[in-house]
Amino acid sequence: MVSQELLDILACPSCKGDLHYDAANDTLTCMNRHCPECGMPVDDAGVCQSPECGKKSENFVGLRYRVEDDIPIMLIYEAEKLPLGEQVIEK
Ligand SMILES: [Zn+2]
Ligand SMILES: [Zn+2]
Repeated sequence: MVSQELLDILACPSCKGDLHYDAANDTLTCMNRHCPECGMPVDDAGVCQSPECGKKSENFVGLRYRVEDDIPIMLIYEAEKLPLGEQVIEK
């Protein structure tokens, strides 16, 4: 169980987005668009913002962070990648 105080200050380490806490499964999920290769954020054109990656994608992933002993593991490379499916890019 993660305290509300901690939840209030936590953000996705990749995109700094809001996290959804699933108390039943003890996971924190960011459903913003991330690069499926490296988990870093992508820009409006779908291009990864990591200079080492820079991959252009059409399908993106959300990131799910697990919680161990009440400590959220806020590491991008440890996060589970969740397919977000096709995204509608507003023109
Ligand atoms: Zn994120
Ligand atoms: Zn990438």
